[in-house]
Amino acid sequence: MIFTMPATVKEILAAEAKGQEVELHAWVRSCRDSKNISFLNLNDGSCVSGIQVVVDEECRKASPAFAQTDQINGINQISNGASLRVKGRLVASQGNLQAVEIQASGIELLGAAPQDTYPLQKKRHSFEFLREISHLRGRSNSIGAVMRLRNRLSMLVHEFFQQHGFYYIHTPIITVSDAEGAGEMFRVESSGCLDEGRGGESLGEKSAEEKSTGKKRKYFFGQEAFLTVSGQMEGEVYAHSHGRVYTFGPTFRAEESNTSRHLAEFWMIEPEVAFLELDGLMDLAEALVRHLIGGTLRHCAEELELLNKWIEPELLRSLQSVTESEHFVRISYTEAIALLEGAVQGGKKFDYRVAWEDGLQTEHERWLTEEHFRQPVIVYNYPAEGKAFYMKQNEDGKTVRGMDVLVPRLGEIIGGSQREDDYEKLKARMLADGMDPEHYQWYLDLRRFGGTPHSGFGLGFERIVQYVTGMKNIRDVIPFPRAVGQAS
Ligand code: ATP
Ligand code: MN
Repeated sequence: MIFTMPATVKEILAAEAKGQEVELHAWVRSCRDSKNISFLNLNDGSCVSGIQVVVDEECRKASPAFAQTDQINGINQISNGASLRVKGRLVASQGNLQAVEIQASGIELLGAAPQDTYPLQKKRHSFEFLREISHLRGRSNSIGAVMRLRNRLSMLVHEFFQQHGFYYIHTPIITVSDAEGAGEMFRVESSGCLDEGRGGESLGEKSAEEKSTGKKRKYFFGQEAFLTVSGQMEGEVYAHSHGRVYTFGPTFRAEESNTSRHLAEFWMIEPEVAFLELDGLMDLAEALVRHLIGGTLRHCAEELELLNKWIEPELLRSLQSVTESEHFVRISYTEAIALLEGAVQGGKKFDYRVAWEDGLQTEHERWLTEEHFRQPVIVYNYPAEGKAFYMKQNEDGKTVRGMDVLVPRLGEIIGGSQREDDYEKLKARMLADGMDPEHYQWYLDLRRFGGTPHSGFGLGFERIVQYVTGMKNIRDVIPFPRAVGQAS
């Protein structure tokens, strides 16, 4: 089947077919009228660039849209934000910004955007303001660029894993594993669950509703259910049947702290690999990050230049230095603490104490990546205490085979580990953490029937988008951010 759609600005600019008749649908970014000629800059979201449309007197006369005026202001409705259909010829540009422009022969107004109420003016808007108009902010230059980069990064994620023999599996969004230890969860319940027909336990205290209707509130799933905080455990299941798998889907955490790096709903990429140990896992994490950065540098040069100019002046340099570096620094947690202690002795001041038992604070992670190594750093073999129950215990009895990938400007973007594959050790650690092993028999079974060393990690998708775009606030790298106090 052959099908055609109206050409985009990106396609028209790429074709550079001078002399060709074109039809373009796009929104007005700016318009400049002089006595007998108008210049429009049109953008359709397909790329950073807009395209210049030159409207001469003859075309203006032939286009009723130019006579249609805004009832309130009495001005021409071909104004910032309006959508148009333009017919014309592609010609060599007079200016030197672009190779081609459109010499219009007819202009049709598809949708006006009254200037007294249209919120996006030509000036720069703050990201705080843009967050209040999430239905329109995709039309701004920076958010527009970020969302195209986000799209590219998604494709690069799949490309990477598919090239390396992984299977994409969809792990559930609703889960009953309530002790993954990754964070506060959101409870899931039906809004109309006053039904005696459904099984399961009654939900605690009788509500007024239950008393008045005489019906009992029951758990929809027969037990408490939550939105997933991680697809890891289900990933482990499929790693034990398909070897190399990954998930890439929405993840939910009731993060109440209001930070520039945390969302309540975010996307996570979680590979899980059978027969892989910690060293191999670190190789995998590094290769993935390099693939994502290299791919965006190759495919999104225009977007990156825009962001480098307006958002983060170090952006291109820092991304290039990652791809040019031979390998990421890898240090054990104990070595990281020793380096930090050395810095303190040398006069460096931190707000938090540096001590093996205290863990790494963000300021410590930033010192490692921004001041000491000046590049991404992988820290591994963390103290067992404070890390999740499923991380493989080291022989030393103190540390576990966990690793974090830390990057300048942001801190942690990846957290992962080799998983505990020893049935008894895993069970003992569950009990020590107050978990009920019976509830997780399926998870323990993976260690009982054909268990293997295996490893996996979670890469926060918005964190890598933040890293690659230089955006300061994570709420500006997802189309519709959900965070504490914000869901619009
Ligand atoms: P952090 O210490 O940064 O809060 P974490 O250690 O709680 O993260 P993990 O459980 O290790 O996070 O999750 C794996 C990855 O998911 C993190 O490395 C990070 O990239 C991302 N991530 C975790 N929580 C969030 C969140 N609330 N919003 C966006 N990304 C997140
Ligand atoms: Mn982590």
